[in-house]
Amino acid sequence: MTAKAKANILLVDDHPESLLALEAVLADLGQNLVKADSGRQALRCVLNQDFAVILLDVNMPGMDGFETAALIRERERSMHTPIVFLTGRDQSELAVFRGYSVGAVDYLIKPFAPEILKSKVAVFVDLFQMREKARQQANQLVAINQNLEREIAERKRAEAEIKRRADELEAANKELEAFSYSVSHDLRTPLRAMQGFAQALNEDFADRLGPVAQDYTQRIVAAACRMDSLIQDLLAYSRLSRAQMLLQPLDLRSIMAQIQAQTEGEFREREAVVEAAIPEAFPHVMAHATTLVQVVTNLLTNAVKFVASGVRPHVRVWAEERGEWGRLWVEDNGIGIAPEHQVRIFRVFERLHGSETYPGTGIGLAIAAKGMERMGGRAGVESTPGKGSKFWIELPKGDRPS
Ligand code: ADP
Repeated sequence: MTAKAKANILLVDDHPESLLALEAVLADLGQNLVKADSGRQALRCVLNQDFAVILLDVNMPGMDGFETAALIRERERSMHTPIVFLTGRDQSELAVFRGYSVGAVDYLIKPFAPEILKSKVAVFVDLFQMREKARQQANQLVAINQNLEREIAERKRAEAEIKRRADELEAANKELEAFSYSVSHDLRTPLRAMQGFAQALNEDFADRLGPVAQDYTQRIVAAACRMDSLIQDLLAYSRLSRAQMLLQPLDLRSIMAQIQAQTEGEFREREAVVEAAIPEAFPHVMAHATTLVQVVTNLLTNAVKFVASGVRPHVRVWAEERGEWGRLWVEDNGIGIAPEHQVRIFRVFERLHGSETYPGTGIGLAIAAKGMERMGGRAGVESTPGKGSKFWIELPKGDRPS
């Protein structure tokens, strides 16, 4: 709050010496004293100023105090301004009553004791200043409220804008996925023709083709095969992006058992050791079975694949509870991944090696990341080059097995 503003006090009397006397007594209060020598002049004053109190002489020529008070009360601005009548000793009770009926709040009988006059006026000044303060605080509250309302409206507008953009992005994404799906589909037909005819050339015209031409046609077949698997992987990825995914509580132990049964033959060929240690009491995780099997299979296949030549793949799988999440770790003794590549390998077609060194299309981890995202989970990796990698996936926990 700023320092108190001075209150206005209106002194109305037709005798200049009375006005001077009032002024002398009230000067101590340090307020703003406004003088009027007639009822008419008093009315002019209340038109454009607010007063803490009006000291109004009853006996004035022309418009007397009562008439003046009645007119003061009629004006909106001064309707509630306290009026103290100043009267002579000869006032009848009737006059006093009339005074109250036109809105007087008090009477002072002349000659008045200066201390009484001063303390009465001081009370009205205090009241006025308190009202002023309350009014200012109310105004501040209104301003704060308006600011808040503006901020809320602004925030709502920003949220609506973000939602609109997210909707647009989602629609664009869906469109792109649908587009890539149909394009991939259509690409396979001419590709099969190329593959088929190159094969036919090789088989039916082998005697007429020299060894160089035969090598070329075989390369065409191999390249077409590779392109076909790229397209098929892309199709699998975009199918995963669009598939409906009903989540249910799943037991990671039985998911792992299922995957191990499926990959056993392939891993035996590579002499890989895969150890899975998931406690029996490990909580279920909320997931879509086919997608989860696909994601974990991709991680296991990579763990067995990306080892240095001559090294026997050794993979460890275990589970860990992390708050509301169940995390599955797949740790290998492979070649590891440099920190700067650990994010991009989860994107479509991102590979760190030529397909001659390590075959693949670069879609396995993209499928893992997308699958986890679709199931409301996450995927990541911790790795040091040359020291193996630890891939993890995380899903919301469900109930515990009974
Ligand atoms: P792909 O296996 O077909 O190459 P992925 O998307 O599964 O495709 O993997 C992308 C790349 O990430 C791989 O080419 C490889 O460079 C790297 N990577 C994935 N898994 C591992 C791993 N366990 N150890 C080392 N590098 C890996």
